[in-house]
Amino acid sequence: MLFKLLVFGLAIFGAYVLLKNKLGSNESKKENAQNMLECEECGAYFIKSDGVRFGGKIYCSKECKDKARG
Ligand SMILES: [Zn+2]
Repeated sequence: MLFKLLVFGLAIFGAYVLLKNKLGSNESKKENAQNMLECEECGAYFIKSDGVRFGGKIYCSKECKDKARG
């Protein structure tokens, strides 16, 4: 009886962990999609964290930042 309860508990715990991982990965994918920005210089799309910030604006690359400056 105790053994059955233990197996049942482990099964629920396993399902919980799997579900949590699944939800977690969906969340991070959604976040990446929301963080896509358009470069002000060349119009290319890039991920916000990969961008180069300068003068309150954000560009896709160092090259575009330099172009915008000059
Ligand atoms: Zn650019």
